[in-house]
Amino acid sequence: MSENTPKLRAVLDGIPTYKPGKPAASGGPVAYKLSSNENPHPPLPGVLESVTRAAGSFNRYPDMACTELMAELSRRFQVPVEHLATGTGSVGVAQQLLQSTTGPGDEVIYAWRSFEAYPIITQISGATSIQVPLTENEEHDLDAMADAVTDRTRLIFVCNPNNPTGVAIRRPELERFLDRVPRDVLVVLDEAYREFVRDEEVVDGVELYRDRPNVCVLRTFSKAYGLAGLRVGFAVAHPRVAGALRKTAVPFGVSQLAQEAAVASLRAEDALLERVEGLVAERARVSRELVAQGWTVPESHANFVWLRLGDRTTEFAELCEKAGAVVRPFAGEGVRVTVGEPEANDIFLKAAAAFRQRG
Ligand code: PMP
Repeated sequence: MSENTPKLRAVLDGIPTYKPGKPAASGGPVAYKLSSNENPHPPLPGVLESVTRAAGSFNRYPDMACTELMAELSRRFQVPVEHLATGTGSVGVAQQLLQSTTGPGDEVIYAWRSFEAYPIITQISGATSIQVPLTENEEHDLDAMADAVTDRTRLIFVCNPNNPTGVAIRRPELERFLDRVPRDVLVVLDEAYREFVRDEEVVDGVELYRDRPNVCVLRTFSKAYGLAGLRVGFAVAHPRVAGALRKTAVPFGVSQLAQEAAVASLRAEDALLERVEGLVAERARVSRELVAQGWTVPESHANFVWLRLGDRTTEFAELCEKAGAVVRPFAGEGVRVTVGEPEANDIFLKAAAAFRQRG
C-alpha cells in the first residue's frame, strides 16, 4: 500500500460488496425484474400525491424526529413512541444497531445463507461474523445459534422469514431460542417480509419484544408497502435500544418525501394489504406449479421463492433472463425469484419448466 494514500481501516479489506438485484434489460422484447424482492405495483395515487406535495419544499431539511410517522407507527403497533426508531431503510437501522452494540473483537451471529447485507455491515463495524449454516431443510439452526453464543457475542440477527429461502420460524422454536440467549445480547428479529406471512404459528416479533428488553424488531416500508426507492424502515425496541438508534442515526437521514409516503401508506393500509393479498395468492400459484413441475420448493412465507440449484444456478438464471425474467442467482447455491406480476411469474414458470426438460 502506498504511503501517499489515505490510511483506511484494515477491516474494510476484502469486504464483500452488496450486489443489488440485476435490473431488467431495457430495449428487449419483455423484461421483468424478479431479482430484488420489490413490490411490482406502482405507488398508490394517494401516496404519490403526498410525495409530490412534499417535493414542493425539499429546499428544507426533513423533520428529524419523524414526528408524524412515529405517532402513526405508535398507533398502528400499539407501542410507545420511545420504543420506535426510524432509519434509511431497515438495512440502515440494522447498521445503526451494529454501531450501537459492536466493535473490534465482538461477535455477531446469524444464519447463513441469509440476508447478504449482514456480513457486510458486520465487517464494517469491525466485529466478527459467526455464520451458522441453515439446516438441510433450509431452516435456521436455532440450537446451534444459541450454542454459538460466547461472552464476545453482542448481537444476533434472526431473519424471519429468511431471505433468500422464504422459510419462517414458528413461535415455540423462537421462544425457546430467546429463552436461551443471555439477556445482555441483542437479538434482532428482521421481519422485512412480515406482511406476507399467513401462517398464524409464525409469531409477530412485536408481540415477542414486549417483555424481552433484549429483542429488537426490524420492519420496512420497502416491500409490502412499495416504498423501496424512498428508503424508510424502523425498529421496535425497548427505550435503551431505541435511544441508541437515535444517537447513531445519520442526521436528517429519512427524507420528508419518505416520511410523508410512509404516513400516507399507513393510512392507506387496506388498499396496500389488498395488493399484498394478491401477491400471496401468486406465491401459492407459483409454488404449486413449481412442485407440479417436480421442483423441491421450501414453503415460502415471503414475496419470493427459493430454488436450490447448486452448480446449475448460473445456467438457470441465464435461461430465465433470456426468457425475459431477471432472477437473483447466488452462484453455487441457488436462485431467489421474486413473486411479481402474473405475466412475469408466467415467464419464470415457463423457463423453469423448460429447464427441467433440459434435464
Ligand atoms: N432485511 C431483509 C431480510 C431484506 O431482505 C431486506 C431487503 N432486501 C432488508 C432488510 C432491507 O430492506 P430496506 O433497507 O429496503 O428496508
